[in-house]
This record gives sequence, structure tokens and C-alpha cells, in this order.
Amino acid sequence: MKWYQANKRDLPWRHTKDPFRIWLSEIILQQTRIDQGLPYYENFVSTFKNVEELANAKEDKILRLWQGLGYYSRARNLHKCAQVVSDKYYGTFPDTYSELLTLPGIGPYTAAAIASIAFNEAAAVIDGNVFRLLSRLFGLNDNIAIAKSRKTFESVASAMIDSNQPATFNQAIMEFGARVCKPSNPNCDHCPVNQYCYAFKNNCQATLPVNNKRLKIKERYFNYLVGLNDNKTYLHKRNAGDIWRGLYDFPLIESAKSMTVRDVLRSSDLKNIEIIKVSDEYKHILTHQRIYARFILFELKDSTFAEEFQHKFGCRVYSFNKLGALPKPRLIDKYLNDHKDYLL
Ligand code: SF4
Repeated sequence: MKWYQANKRDLPWRHTKDPFRIWLSEIILQQTRIDQGLPYYENFVSTFKNVEELANAKEDKILRLWQGLGYYSRARNLHKCAQVVSDKYYGTFPDTYSELLTLPGIGPYTAAAIASIAFNEAAAVIDGNVFRLLSRLFGLNDNIAIAKSRKTFESVASAMIDSNQPATFNQAIMEFGARVCKPSNPNCDHCPVNQYCYAFKNNCQATLPVNNKRLKIKERYFNYLVGLNDNKTYLHKRNAGDIWRGLYDFPLIESAKSMTVRDVLRSSDLKNIEIIKVSDEYKHILTHQRIYARFILFELKDSTFAEEFQHKFGCRVYSFNKLGALPKPRLIDKYLNDHKDYLL
């Protein structure tokens, strides 16, 4: 905590005890670097003054503000959580770890962060930085990729937390892990706890924490059909059960292997079209999947077929100048941006 007081970064959510702002910052910063998340945080707090304004907003508006951050289920849960706080708790966040944990999108980490920072409850946070620091400091070799290992780390952190200053303790331990006990090249020579550190003594910083993930990466091939009709195009809103649920993209033929343009056209049954341009392949990497996307831009010449096309892919017609306001996967934005000379 002494190190933290002298070295902490000046960040806007460190100047508040408002649970709404702390919750927003925590959700935005999950799996996101601070410099990337900061403008999103500022945008959200300037758009929504409190949880009720967020609860009453349209999902499209929230997804649009979230665009580019990825992991869109976080944005949808943000909205659901705001609605529960607004309806069930009359717009005031519950003030205990166990009640916070019942809210949509709030797991043990976020509940502990809000409970400690906003309500001074001695609930220890465990994030990637805390796993790493505790594992090295105490030589804990439980595999952090396995859910049950969390218990070990929780009991160590709970034994350490300063119950008079849980907010400072939690923020200090995370900041210390992020800036001193870094994943690679930890700053051990200047570390104020190196004399107690198991990894430093045994020179095994590189092997701790143990993190044996057996991630299966799924490969997906997206063949987007970008139909043009009188300076308009067709988009569909992705629906339930999808990583991009609620976002808009072009009609799509998906396959597990790369397809030729001819095969795409055959399987989509496209008639009476004129191909304008086939894009290069776009590679989009997510945690559990790799997406290879190609965009086939064509003109729909026959109005009867244009209607059929719209019906078949469940899409609607949008003029290009309206696309900016719709929430879209980053991949689609990138394509539109790269082809604005053609399209916008
Ligand atoms: Fe981390 Fe090195 Fe400090 Fe140990 S000595 S806690 S490995 S920075």
C-alpha cells in the first residue's frame, strides 16, 4: 500500500466512491487495457449520469458506444444489470458482496471490487495480476486455468487484506501486479517485497503462475454478401446465442473451410447480380476462434430478386450514410472504412 500511494496512476475512477462509476469502470476494463478502456469509460459517464439513464437507454445505443471493445456480452449484461438495479433496487446498487454477486454480469472479481471500493467491505479481489503476484510471492503452483484453484488464491488474499482499508489494499495489489510483478520481465531488483519472494529466491518467475490452458481454437470462414441496390445495402441484426448478438452485419455464408467465390454464389443462390469487387481476406482473432472474412460486393439488378434476397437472409435495406450510427462488429467497420471510396 505504501508503494501504491507513491506510484499509483491517476485514473478517473480512483476519484470516486460512486458504485455506478466503479461498476462501469470494472466492466469496461475486463480483458481490456487501461489506455484502451479509458475513452469508453469517459464516453459512458458523459452519456449516462446514473444507472437509471443507462437502464432506460436502447440496446442499440449501448452497443454503439461499446463498439470496438469486443466481448459484447459484457455490454448486454451491463444493460441488463442496470435494469435490475433500476427495477429491483430503485436505482441504488446493493451494498454487499453477496448481493452484488446476484446481478447480471457481476462475478466474484467485480463484486469484490465494487464492495471494497464503494462500500468498504473487506472482500479480496482476484484478477490476473493478483494471481500472478500471489503465485510468485508465495510459490503457489495451482493451475490458474482451473476454476477450483481460485479458492486457494482467495483464501491467501483474504488473509492478507487490510480490513480497515480494503479499497486501497485491493487497488494496490492489482496495480502492483500490473506494473512491478509484470508477466514478463518483472522488476524484481526494485521490488519492495523481493526479500520475501519465493520466485525471486528460486529464480522461477518465468514458470509462475502455472497456467495450462488447453484452448481449442475454432476456425470460421465468413463470406459476406454486400449487395448494392441504388446506393443502399442490406444488413441483418445478429440474434440470440451469438457472440455478436444485437450487432448489424451483412448477409453471411459461413463455412468451416475456405470456399471459392463461385461456391459461395452457388450456395447462396444469387442470380442476376454483377460482381463489383471481392475483398482480400480479413483475419479477426478472438480468444476461442479465428475468423477469416471476405466481402463479395455486387450489384443486385433485379428488384424481384432483391426482395427475395432480403427475405432469404432476414435483412433490411439501409442507405450507406445510416450505417455509421448502427452498432457493428469491428470487422465490418474496418471493411467499410477500407472501402469508403466505393461505398460511402
Ligand atoms: Fe514479483 Fe519479482 Fe517482486 Fe517477486 S520479487 S513479487 S517476482 S516483482
